[in-house]
Amino acid sequence: PVVTRIAPSPTGYMHIGTARTALFNWLYAKRTGGKFLLRIEDTDRERSTLPAVQAIFDGMAWLGLVPDEEPVFQAARADRHVLAAQELLANGRAYRCYMTADELTAEREIARAEGRAVQSPWRDQDANFNDRPYVVRFKGPREGETVIHDRVKGDVTFKNKDLDDLIILRTDGTPTYNLAVIVDDHEMGVTHVIRGDDHLNNAARQTLIYEALGWEVPVWAHLPMIHGPDGAKLSKRHGAQAVSEFDDMGYLPEAMRNYLARLGWGHGDDEIFSDEQAQSWFDVTDVVSAPARLDWAKLNHINNHYLRLADIDRLVALTQRVRTSRGEPVHDADSAILHRTIPLVRDGAKTLLELADAVVFALKPRPLELPEKVTGMLNEETRARLTRLRENLAGQADWEVPALEAALRGFAESEGVGLGKIGPALRGVLSGGAPAPDLAGALVSLGKAESLGRLDDALS
Ligand code: GLU
Repeated sequence: PVVTRIAPSPTGYMHIGTARTALFNWLYAKRTGGKFLLRIEDTDRERSTLPAVQAIFDGMAWLGLVPDEEPVFQAARADRHVLAAQELLANGRAYRCYMTADELTAEREIARAEGRAVQSPWRDQDANFNDRPYVVRFKGPREGETVIHDRVKGDVTFKNKDLDDLIILRTDGTPTYNLAVIVDDHEMGVTHVIRGDDHLNNAARQTLIYEALGWEVPVWAHLPMIHGPDGAKLSKRHGAQAVSEFDDMGYLPEAMRNYLARLGWGHGDDEIFSDEQAQSWFDVTDVVSAPARLDWAKLNHINNHYLRLADIDRLVALTQRVRTSRGEPVHDADSAILHRTIPLVRDGAKTLLELADAVVFALKPRPLELPEKVTGMLNEETRARLTRLRENLAGQADWEVPALEAALRGFAESEGVGLGKIGPALRGVLSGGAPAPDLAGALVSLGKAESLGRLDDALS
């Protein structure tokens, strides 16, 4: 059975590229009826932090990418990694290298000048001193080639002479990334390593170590990076990199899944698809090898689609969350207003932030402060007309959009004017000048009592 995994290093926020890698691993596991695992690669003790671990858990949970088993912490498995290094030493596939830092620097220069990989003079010595510091290096072949059969990149050939003998244990005896990742993937039963293509070179070295340990080499699939709209590596200036920023900017997790799935992969021209569809269609071999570009317009379009589909209770809660984060007052009583308002305004919202902007008018406390552009419209004639309209609306029993539209039209007719004569002032009085849906929509959002109350305030 297929086992995939995501293996982030907890050294900062969770990058959107990591999220997409997680998504592809998750999709592939679902597609094949396999398992999707999470390993926290926390071996860099200095740079790994608990908040960064939490950011990974939070990011995965937010995106709905739930691993099928408890997460594995790499640092806790150091003894397993050391065992593998000892096995390689015992089999003559690794050696102790006693080169000093200065010797290594000198060798690096010579190797560069000669256009070859760094070589250690200790490779064939089988030395074992008690009193000298050493690193353990993997003894890779110097002849021949290593071919990575990558599901995304195709066959990638590396000349073994270009691959230096990788350090697998440091001077202090701790395992390096390249050893740890192999041991962990092997012992976690990982069959498919789907990760960023910054690890493609590592795949060649890792393949050699797998073979030296007599372990089955996993299927490789190296994903292209995500770039900004301008084609440069995604960075701060492109607007967002961290998964949490997309949450803060008001994107829905299902929209992110749909959008991220289309970054480097796709299903024909399908723009919108469900998790179930993506899970049944996804194959790593269909991932394109060129970098994908973040496209805000597409993301907004997809997010708008999911905002229109989302359950209203959920949107009410999410809108209240945005309002809370903005320091806007949040009352239990707002819930009913939001339930009425959100369906009327969400079609025009690209994000939850825009949705929160669009409901502001409905939640203002009475009496509203009317801006000058509204009070300026309230001349005697308009006030008289709005007063008659107020009476008309007070008698309106059916407070739904179609009935109110008909009532407004009927009123305008009875006054012998077009709706344009009444609309702007009514709208201003109801919304206090904030963005609002059309007239009937605004009346429904506010409810009858609040609508009449706002009219009364303005006309008193
Ligand atoms: N920990 C590595 C990283 O965050 C990933 C290693 C892997 O996926 O094999 O870049």
